[in-house]
Amino acid sequence: MSAGPRSRFLKVKCVDCENEMIVFGSASTVVRCSVCGRTLVEPTGGKADIKTTIVEVLE
Ligand SMILES: [Zn+2]
Repeated sequence: MSAGPRSRFLKVKCVDCENEMIVFGSASTVVRCSVCGRTLVEPTGGKADIKTTIVEVLE
């Protein structure tokens, strides 16, 4: 079973304020933008639902 991109660390950019953050692709808690508080990642039963722009997938 290969690991999808959401099991890795992702660089995401907030669509509201363009702040870039590193998040874990299978985050089990909600991740919010550290600048404006927008929800960027929501946990959905094991996989994280990325609610913003993914800039880069980090190995
Ligand atoms: Zn933001």
